[in-house]
Amino acid sequence: MDAGHGIMENGGHNGAKGSYSFEDEICLDVSKELVKKFHDEMPDIRIVETRPTEKIVPLHKRAQIANENKGDLFICIHVNAAVPIRRSELVGHKTVTYYTGKGKNRKKRTKTVPQYRHYSLPNPAKGTETYIWGSHKNEDKELAMRENAPMLQEDDYKVNYGDIDPNSPEFIALSLLKTKQYFKRSATLAGFVQDEFAKVGRVDRDVRQRGVGIWVLQATAMPSILVETGYITNKAEEDYLNSKEGQQELAGCILRAVRTYIDWLEKQQQGNDNSRRERPGKEDIAAMLREIEQYEQHSR
Ligand SMILES: [Zn+2]
Repeated sequence: MDAGHGIMENGGHNGAKGSYSFEDEICLDVSKELVKKFHDEMPDIRIVETRPTEKIVPLHKRAQIANENKGDLFICIHVNAAVPIRRSELVGHKTVTYYTGKGKNRKKRTKTVPQYRHYSLPNPAKGTETYIWGSHKNEDKELAMRENAPMLQEDDYKVNYGDIDPNSPEFIALSLLKTKQYFKRSATLAGFVQDEFAKVGRVDRDVRQRGVGIWVLQATAMPSILVETGYITNKAEEDYLNSKEGQQELAGCILRAVRTYIDWLEKQQQGNDNSRRERPGKEDIAAMLREIEQYEQHSR
């Protein structure tokens, strides 16, 4: 459980700002609400908070906590912001004086110039969106996972994979397969989260992929999502995000999505038991190695 942002060393808020509240405060409130819900309704799930207090935690530290705990899911809670809409309107004209020429040719002239008033309107953007790591950037995630090699070593690693050297092409292939699997799982969970939000009437801004700016999604060796719970720059949404009811509703949606995800995952794994193993077999690795070879020849 990753509550976005936090209070910095200098005491300032890190994150988006509303008319009276701050993103980091809402993130922590929603995250705490969710932790409580998991504790009450799904006590078998172990929750690790990467930012348990109002104090900010560096991103690499958050990823490290998640990876060291061998998390099955990484959920980031954030609040969105939209820049104000800039407008200008014609308010009249003004006569200005200017001069042309030099010396005795110097002439005084006048011209009329339009006068504008510049102002900004609050951006009406609202709703929730859930981000996953961009699939086109899977190479980056794969790299991150290679750096996090020990994390890939599950308890039954040897049983499943044998003695694969973490620096070998086989290991890279394995990381790639894992990345693909994480991508599918992240996308599925993100879809479930948005479904739940839509059910309670939140504006559904859909699942989105982002290749930059969401470093933690890349650095975590597990399925990961980032939920933008709403817009702090929209007055009605700011009130909603700060209300106990709003926070409980958001947390409830995410909890139900996780429950649906677990059911989905169990069905998937059952299906795999009957037909094909969930874990990559020798043929999968061989296919992936061919892919890597082709990719490398391509980029040479
Ligand atoms: Zn944020």
